[in-house]
Amino acid sequence: MKETTILDKRFREMIPGEIINRRIDDMAEQINRDYAGKDVVFLGILNGAFLFAAELFKRVNLKARISFVKLASYEGTKSSGSVKELIGWNEDIKGMPVIVIEDIVDTGHTLELIVGELKVRKVANIKIATLLYKPKAYTKKIPLDYVGFEIPNDFVVGFGLDYDGYGRNLPSVYTLIKQ
Ligand code: 5GP
Repeated sequence: MKETTILDKRFREMIPGEIINRRIDDMAEQINRDYAGKDVVFLGILNGAFLFAAELFKRVNLKARISFVKLASYEGTKSSGSVKELIGWNEDIKGMPVIVIEDIVDTGHTLELIVGELKVRKVANIKIATLLYKPKAYTKKIPLDYVGFEIPNDFVVGFGLDYDGYGRNLPSVYTLIKQ
């Protein structure tokens, strides 16, 4: 079992990088099929989704654009539940099909906010792609269209996800070892 230390905490490898990359191949293939012949906008949610967004987007063979917005709702290892910041939105997305790219869907607060903003911007339709999903923590009804992995309700890092800013560069997903 691979383990790593980030700041004051120990983490154990949960999903190896090769498995993640293979799963992203499948997700992109499905998106390429579902959107064949369409012009589509991908919307990555910063910071966590930058890596997954890049890996997914480079496998997409559609006429596609990508843009990023930033929404921070997390501090340390506990979700504060309140969304604090929103920056970005420089693309003209009115009337476009949009695929939101999330690193992880936990309670779904962030997602609900983004979907609300997209509806105000009168996009054609909205689908959600997330690398990780915690079904036990999810409190919303928004359907998740492309899910990489369902995971337990534990704190994870790696593949873009951080612990206090660190660990985003880990090529695998690691879970917190509880002491
Ligand atoms: P939600 O709004 O769904 O509760 O949380 C979404 C955001 O919280 C994610 O985009 C991510 O930034 C952060 N988050 C939720 N769970 C985790 C986790 O286990 N690890 C890390 N590093 N961030 C998480």
